[in-house]
Amino acid sequence: MPDPIEKKISRLIRPEIRALKAYRVPDATGLVKLDAMENPYSWPEAVRREWLKVLQHVSLNRYPDPDARVLRQRLCAVLSVPSGMELVLGNGSDELIQVILMAVSKPGAVALAPTPTFVMYEMIATFLDMKFVGVPLTQDFSLDMPAMLKAIEAHQPVVIFLAYPNNPTGNLFAREDIVRLIEQAPGLVVLDEAYHAFAGQSFMDQLGKQDNLLVMRTLSKQGLAGLRLGVLAGPAVWLEEFNKVRLPYNVGSLTQASSEFALTRLALLDEQAKQIREDREKLFRALTRLPGVRAWPSQANFILFRIEKRDADEVFEGLRTRGVLIKNLNSSGGMLKGCLRVTVGTPDENAAFLSALEAAL
Ligand code: PMP
Repeated sequence: MPDPIEKKISRLIRPEIRALKAYRVPDATGLVKLDAMENPYSWPEAVRREWLKVLQHVSLNRYPDPDARVLRQRLCAVLSVPSGMELVLGNGSDELIQVILMAVSKPGAVALAPTPTFVMYEMIATFLDMKFVGVPLTQDFSLDMPAMLKAIEAHQPVVIFLAYPNNPTGNLFAREDIVRLIEQAPGLVVLDEAYHAFAGQSFMDQLGKQDNLLVMRTLSKQGLAGLRLGVLAGPAVWLEEFNKVRLPYNVGSLTQASSEFALTRLALLDEQAKQIREDREKLFRALTRLPGVRAWPSQANFILFRIEKRDADEVFEGLRTRGVLIKNLNSSGGMLKGCLRVTVGTPDENAAFLSALEAAL
């Protein structure tokens, strides 16, 4: 008698994978969508028409350029990648995290990050049978340097991820702390600058000064989340190794052509980011005025806040029943207990969120 399917699954799927929950994206149909750090703005009609003209010339019968040469060249210029440094592109920066971890994973290898942070670092490390060490941030969401240095010494991580600004807390870690970590780390340090457009600060100009530093960017938060384009910058010798584990056609022709086009419209992308930064400050001030809400200043396109006098799950549901979807972090526990995270939307969306929140509190 063959094994019943449940038995086969537990025999074949590793217990760490069995214990995971798939990354769940809730259905936002009909809701004001402020849950996923997307840019709320699309392109003006005239720009969309020009973009579609470009797409007409893409040869869909051919495989994409596996090295995305034209796009990489343009990105080097636009992102001010220091000369001598190279780029690897990914299907979003999610895929680049996976590529980095695949290249460094081996039995017993440790990936380390301050927590709370972007959940994919831990999830992908787990997929790859690596150990993940999370070092709690301090109460004000700074790096706990004594704890970080101790953990680095004890675990000798092959890679440290630092989201700059951090998700979900929205803050930039102190520059001198990061410099110290890069100096002390025995392995790679990846500065994940997904929210760079809203923060202005970067380690891009430090590339090459320390040979273990890599910088990651994405087009996702600049109105192009649907494209899936992540960028990893660093010394060519590292990137050559990553290229070996990257699948050859991971960035499709439509993404390459659309990204090249988007890079000719930088003024538009910058204008949208500026609007979002201004609206973030208005939203932050409005949140701090609400009784029973504690909001943290943010350098990203979202704001973390805590519900102090009510149950956060109930407030989250109250928002949803009033037509607004944000992110509920309450179940993450620890520092995030009672916390919700809202993405900065259009002024109308932010107003809809604020009035729904006032009603739900
Ligand atoms: N890094 C951080 C810190 C993020 O918050 C996110 C998205 N939420 C990503 C990377 C992934 O972005 P993408 O795969 O869309 O490039």
